[in-house]
Amino acid sequence: MESSDRSSTIGVRQTDGNLLAVHVIGAGPVGLLLTALLQQVDGLSVSLYEKRSEYTRTRMVTLAPYLLADSVETYRTDSIDEDSIFALFETHELAEGIAFRQSISQDLMALLREWALGFCPLNAIERSVSDLIDTRVSNPVQRTAGVVTAEDAIAMIEPGSVLIDCTGSRALLRDHLVPVSSEVHEGANTVNVRLEYALVITFLYGQPYDCNEYCKYYKNIENPQYKFIPMVHRTHYDGSVSHVTGIVNIAAEEYEAMPSRFDGDWLRSNFPDIALSMDRFIDKIKQETHGEVIGDLEVIRIPLDLYRARNATNRQWLISGRSDSPFASSPMFLVGDSAIGSPYFQSISLGFECATYLAELIARRDLPLREKLDRYELYMYKQWLRVYMRSKMIKHNKDLFETLGNPLAVLEKLHIY
Ligand SMILES: Cc1cc2nc3c(=O)[nH]c(=O)nc-3n(C[C@H](O)[C@H](O)[C@H](O)COP(=O)(O)OP(=O)(O)OC[C@H]3O[C@@H](n4cnc5c(N)ncnc54)[C@H](O)[C@@H]3O)c2cc1C
Repeated sequence: MESSDRSSTIGVRQTDGNLLAVHVIGAGPVGLLLTALLQQVDGLSVSLYEKRSEYTRTRMVTLAPYLLADSVETYRTDSIDEDSIFALFETHELAEGIAFRQSISQDLMALLREWALGFCPLNAIERSVSDLIDTRVSNPVQRTAGVVTAEDAIAMIEPGSVLIDCTGSRALLRDHLVPVSSEVHEGANTVNVRLEYALVITFLYGQPYDCNEYCKYYKNIENPQYKFIPMVHRTHYDGSVSHVTGIVNIAAEEYEAMPSRFDGDWLRSNFPDIALSMDRFIDKIKQETHGEVIGDLEVIRIPLDLYRARNATNRQWLISGRSDSPFASSPMFLVGDSAIGSPYFQSISLGFECATYLAELIARRDLPLREKLDRYELYMYKQWLRVYMRSKMIKHNKDLFETLGNPLAVLEKLHIY
């Protein structure tokens, strides 16, 4: 990057001399949270773009406790990756993040606390932050409805503005962020690791029901294959029903033969062995708690991918100094699923964490632009390592779990040295 870039700061909008224009594309959970955080920062003019006219995704999601941590110790406390967090992050980095979190406005913190209590429908998260943004009197956000194309995004760029892509797993700008000699192609800036194919199965149950590792094992004991694995804490009793969500591992060919979304009847007719395995699991819950499944199973088939953008900013473009590209003029950042995607119900929390870090960086007027970009890239890389190791560990544990009781099969999965 040119030395002039090194001394410039995010925070100077040249068109009106006062406000920095920040464009957030995508108002899913992460784009909304980031917008609500940026709304608190003085000197910004925030615009938010969204193509959906309504928030309709009702699936239950849960947030990680680390989002509410008030000390480095509580931030690190996690049954799977406590040591990794210690190994990857410096204590002062975590402490800075926690200090920034403590400056988050009470209205937004109250929402985060509520969601972290247990399960929450995704669209309830989206609606509540969206409403919060609209009802705040100071620093109103300019909202624009409709699909944003890459060309539209380029047209938003002006000297000193910031473009933030929160458009989810099929990110609008991800593959544009690396200077390429020929045409931009899908995957140019993406590393993808496929962990498995899975069915995410959800059902409602008319009694309180909690699950731990013993429950996962004993309720699947008669299932040699297609074990249903609900997450610990993935069952939530809302006062009248338990919301149960879990995963069944399937083969690639089975994945190909299924529609993207279906119900229990379709499963019973087309994949009776998987349905039988589910029924055995549910029968054991019923024997224990004497309740009934309410309604039908909801089934989604998805590839469980772990991916990241090699570049979470357009730093490479800015360094290239190419004056012929709009991507080489103003800073751009990827946040949420547009930057990193992970399975096993971790993604929203990770997206929130990265959005909080970026808001903190943008608020830091003392930092040169180049340093902001470098810090964000480094932070995203550490978050990637963390979620990569965590997801591989979960997958490995799942694989072992599926073969418990069969020592030879377990040994085949164990590579000790
Ligand atoms: C079945 C299932 C269950 C899940 N359960 C969990 C869970 O329990 N916990 C968890 O943490 N995660 C879960 N996830 C993942 C979670 O839903 C995503 O990680 C999360 O929604 C990502 O948020 P985001 O804001 O980054 O992207 P998205 O939610 O994808 O939002 C992107 C937004 O950008 C908009 N957009 C996209 N392109 C454009 C464009 N060109 N112009 C304008 N707007 C655009 C979209 O309409 C959308 O509103 C689950 C996912 C699935 C499929």
